[in-house]
Amino acid sequence: MDSRRILHLDMDAFFASVEIRDDPSLAGKPVIIGNNPRGVVSAASYEARKYGVRSAMPVMRAKKLCPHGVFLSGHGRRYGEVSREIMAVVHDFSPLVEQTSVDEAYVDLTGLARLHGTPLAIARAMKARIRQETGLTASVGIAPNKYLAKVASDLDKPDGIYIVDPEMVEAFLSTLAIDKVPGIGPKTQAMLARYQVRFAGDIRRFPLEFWKERFGEKGGEFLWRRGCGVSDSPVCPDFEPKSSGAENTFEADVSDPEVLKAWLLHQAERVGRDLRKDGYFGRTVTLKVKSADFTVKTRSLSLPEPVCDTQSLFEAAARLLAAMALPAKVRLIGLSVSNFSRGSRQLSLFEEPGGGRRQRLDSTLDAILDRFGKSAVIRGRLFDFASKRGQGR
Ligand SMILES: [Mg+2]
Repeated sequence: MDSRRILHLDMDAFFASVEIRDDPSLAGKPVIIGNNPRGVVSAASYEARKYGVRSAMPVMRAKKLCPHGVFLSGHGRRYGEVSREIMAVVHDFSPLVEQTSVDEAYVDLTGLARLHGTPLAIARAMKARIRQETGLTASVGIAPNKYLAKVASDLDKPDGIYIVDPEMVEAFLSTLAIDKVPGIGPKTQAMLARYQVRFAGDIRRFPLEFWKERFGEKGGEFLWRRGCGVSDSPVCPDFEPKSSGAENTFEADVSDPEVLKAWLLHQAERVGRDLRKDGYFGRTVTLKVKSADFTVKTRSLSLPEPVCDTQSLFEAAARLLAAMALPAKVRLIGLSVSNFSRGSRQLSLFEEPGGGRRQRLDSTLDAILDRFGKSAVIRGRLFDFASKRGQGR
């Protein structure tokens, strides 16, 4: 039996939920993303689904089913930004993440128990953090493979967690309606109905050879595996990082730019350390600021050459912060680096006196952190700030 533990995450009515979050007057209304009369619906809120509106349905048909619905064109870039925030949270739990769409991902949890607790605890923590950082709900399915995890994430929507333990697979399949099985379309369903196959588990009432004779070698095998709940498809993560970042959501909104700067230094420290550990240098520094109403602003600048030292990262982020028209109340601040190159440090950094000093400082601090852990060293500037405010971190 498959002893893996695969989690499938799926945001609830993703595009519609982002629109409702950004415009609370839409709450409780049937919101439909898709406003082109010749186009199709790309998302529907749960209120709209009560009228039979579904994604991929022609907009004209949705308008007939739900004439009083709120039809919106949608904000693709915004969804992309929120998607990146969600995936950043997911990556905090495991490096084995395979993102399959803007709002769906598989995570291989096998062996994570000691680090993060039971699958249920991981699902709860992941959902809570996504909610905290984006204001949105997600549904999670956990099962021994991707196929069953994907099915499970759909069974307790919205805001649900559905876990299929390995010993429950057979019972689970015996009540899983055949139209919920991925890869089995209406045509196959109609053919299966001739053999009284109504649930996935019913497939096993006939031997593998029976299905191969009727659906061919590959098709028969596929059906059989669906019926047995077997799938060995691995979670395929995108290993090469495209960016490295750190961000913090504040418990109380912040309006003092000096406080924000102190957090940026803290983040530059974390990001710089990660870069140095993995041997990466980044040229583009991005500052992200989220206001109390969830509006996100990002600003980037590209440095003349790739860096990995804390001071350079902090200075770039501080420049971006100074140039940005800050919202009155900041909910989150983040710093990230992208545009990576790998390998040996640019020579000019050694030649420049300041660069050499910075590098020595970083390697000293890294060595101390390695030995004594996170809280052992706080850079002078951050320390001054912390003691002045009377709040550590
Ligand atoms: Mg979804």
